[in-house]
Amino acid sequence: MAQPVREVRTIRRAVVTGGAGFLGSHLCEQLLDRGVEVVALDNFLTGSPENVVHLLEHPRFRLVRCDVTDYVHVPGPVDLVLHFASPASPLDYLKMPIETLKVGSLGTLHTLGLAHEKGARYVLASTSEVYGDPLQHPQTEEYWGNVNPVGPRGVYDEAKRFSEAMTTAYRTSKGTDTGIVRIFNTYGPRMRADDGRAIPAFVGQALSGRPLTVAGDGSQTRSICYVDDTVRGILAMAFSPHAGPVNIGNPDELSMLALARWIVELTGSDSPVDFIDLPVDDPKVRRPDTTKAQELLGWQPEVTSEEGLRRTVAWFRERVGALEVRAG
Ligand code: NAD
Repeated sequence: MAQPVREVRTIRRAVVTGGAGFLGSHLCEQLLDRGVEVVALDNFLTGSPENVVHLLEHPRFRLVRCDVTDYVHVPGPVDLVLHFASPASPLDYLKMPIETLKVGSLGTLHTLGLAHEKGARYVLASTSEVYGDPLQHPQTEEYWGNVNPVGPRGVYDEAKRFSEAMTTAYRTSKGTDTGIVRIFNTYGPRMRADDGRAIPAFVGQALSGRPLTVAGDGSQTRSICYVDDTVRGILAMAFSPHAGPVNIGNPDELSMLALARWIVELTGSDSPVDFIDLPVDDPKVRRPDTTKAQELLGWQPEVTSEEGLRRTVAWFRERVGALEVRAG
């Protein structure tokens, strides 16, 4: 087994695109905790300054409003570029197909240009969606995927597949120090309750006593990873020299119906389950093979789904409570 490579480089200053989003805001926080100066670039398309409001006074943090599909200019030295800007929930990217394709293509091109110009390490946020509706289970990085380019989800899946190809081309033709992480379903505090992803939707529905809307018969599976684990994996990749792609996700696989019932139980809700139409091209199964992440990065998830869901429910409950107090 290869020796895990850890923290082989010094990173003093990082640029995080999509820094005001769900994953981006946690990445900014973790980088600051590690002593890194952080410049977050975001156009607030699906994220919000509220996600990083607690960092705004931090002396090593800057938030810059910027659409990375227009141009990317960051004065001064940069050691790391994390390209996380992109609508990520199906509801968002189905509403914003062109923006999604642009940030995956032009946004990737511009941010790779920045990394190349600065001699920085570059990490692309790719996704398990590059595997599409997978014919191989669990998914290893060697699997090429089963994606419908002209289906509604193609705007996201193909944007990410293009961005992987572009990232690889910069590595092979220009020598840019790039890495690709394929992130599987991640959940936790700061997700938007209305972003359409299963966990925030189920938690929001359960806390407000509405029916939980499960697509199809709920037998389709996902593997869910708590945000702290995902962010630790991404940073392990950022501080390593590896090209990837490397799967980052929790192999804990469960059906959507089981997840809905579990959330009802954890919230103590008496919400029923309502079955709704299955979205077009919805993947039937999803589970990462994480052997590579373990061998190359010494990374594996540590937070159990039980613990992660409890923390997430607690965070949403606090917010629902705060909204009720404000409204009352
Ligand atoms: P998010 O929507 O919360 O964050 C994305 C951020 O990118 C938002 O703040 C948005 O305003 C910003 N953005 C979008 N277009 C932009 C542009 N043109 N210029 C500047 N900023 C722009 O989503 P997330 O869940 O935090 O996902 C972050 C990244 O991780 C995405 O690239 C996504 O594809 C990837 N990813 C996430 C997951 C997951 O489970 N959360 C899984 C796989 C991959």
